[in-house]
Amino acid sequence: MNPIYLDHHATTPCDPRVVEKMLPYFSEVYGNPASLTHVHGRKAANDLEEARFSMARVLGVELKELYFTSGATESNNIALNLLRTGDHLVTSVIEHKSILVPAEQFEKRGGDVTYLRPDAEGRITASAVEEALRPDTRLVSIETANGEIGTIQPVSEIGALCRERGVLFHTDATQAVGKIDFGLTNTDLASMSAHKLYGPKGIGAIYVRRGVRVEPLIRGGGQERSVRSGTVNVPGVIGFSAAVQLRASEMREEAERLTALRDDLWYRLMEEIPSVSVNGPRALRLPGNLNVSFERIDAESLIVAMRRFSLSSGSACSSGERGPSRVLLAVGVSEEMAMGSIRIGLGKSNTAEETALLVDDLKRVVAKLRESSAA
Ligand code: PMP
Repeated sequence: MNPIYLDHHATTPCDPRVVEKMLPYFSEVYGNPASLTHVHGRKAANDLEEARFSMARVLGVELKELYFTSGATESNNIALNLLRTGDHLVTSVIEHKSILVPAEQFEKRGGDVTYLRPDAEGRITASAVEEALRPDTRLVSIETANGEIGTIQPVSEIGALCRERGVLFHTDATQAVGKIDFGLTNTDLASMSAHKLYGPKGIGAIYVRRGVRVEPLIRGGGQERSVRSGTVNVPGVIGFSAAVQLRASEMREEAERLTALRDDLWYRLMEEIPSVSVNGPRALRLPGNLNVSFERIDAESLIVAMRRFSLSSGSACSSGERGPSRVLLAVGVSEEMAMGSIRIGLGKSNTAEETALLVDDLKRVVAKLRESSAA
């Protein structure tokens, strides 16, 4: 039997309807969209721009404000690349590594960074951002939602503050697009990725508000109006746009279903397993996200023993090193509890039968592991 997939924050399966839309773009409509001298190229260019148009409309942005990249890692790198020596950046300690590593690099190049710490629910408030602003602050980068503990950040408020103060605002919206309703009105730059919303891997986008200048990371043929050179991944863009449109029509209902499923799982875990706690916020949380710590449990052993499920540890760093999750430590979880946490990422395919099975297995496995560690 295939394990039940409960790691939808890491990635999602590509929706078969998305795959179907992409298929002709591998071997039928295969022209290079930059080859405008013939019909093959022009057809590809036309379909690429149509896909961009439909996606921009759903996101509420202009056609020319959307640039395709290889994923959110690249988009985040592009956003931070607009910083110059002597600039000040405000970000948070719970951002994805694709923000934190370029931020460190920027410090090494002579930049200055303020890393905000979240409150106990993982929230970065607009007033915390306000306190960190300085006359030399060029950019604020705060994620829209956290992929470990699901906290949804007040990005609209933070963006409004930045605009008022003449500071650029970037948000890593990777975990939020297609999952929750949010607007980009007060945002200058935003990163997103198709594979988190039932689209293909290796395709992402960066929204850059008209008038904001970014410094390209990849230079060459000048595709994507020189923001990102390299032949555009046409099948990827077609799939990304199709996925975004599907999420726009199905997201609300799905978010309601996942919230109910998640909350029910939450209560049942608290009721049926002794010495557990849930990390992250009660409200304003990604619908499919639950992060649970078990006392006297090593999460790695728990995950290995939970054979019927594909789960992720709240204690693994993205590069595979072991150690307590920096996000959990930042919200005040003890090192011991952080080492005993798992992240449950519910998605489209998951059902109440599956979460019931999860509770049964967790109950049994946690009791057994505690018994053997006490022996
Ligand atoms: N930002 C966040 C918040 C993410 O969760 C991820 C994916 N784990 C990324 C950025 C990187 O996205 P990609 O895989 O498209 O590079």
